[in-house]
Amino acid sequence: MGEAERGEAAPRQSVTFFCSNDHQTVLAFSIEAEIPEAWDCPRCGMPASVDELNRPTAPKTEPYKTHLASVKERRSDAEAQEILAEALDLLRTRRKSGEVIF
Ligand SMILES: [Zn+2]
Repeated sequence: MGEAERGEAAPRQSVTFFCSNDHQTVLAFSIEAEIPEAWDCPRCGMPASVDELNRPTAPKTEPYKTHLASVKERRSDAEAQEILAEALDLLRTRRKSGEVIF
């Protein structure tokens, strides 16, 4: 009952969002509302765009995470040890020279 009454009071417009997994989400906004360019797909959680031909391919935060993950994956344990050793050497060198690191 309440839904119908609100619908009559505020005219709606239907906006379709497209996610990269081919899900279409139709949302109803007040015609006065500002339509967001992107909306999280309720089915898969991926960001969906109102522009069917320009769908977002990944969540906004993913490129950063993906980069970190790929860096970690590429590093073998040996390389990690080497990097740690280099960092420690650098730390000691800087301490000897009296440079303040933090
Ligand atoms: Zn989806």
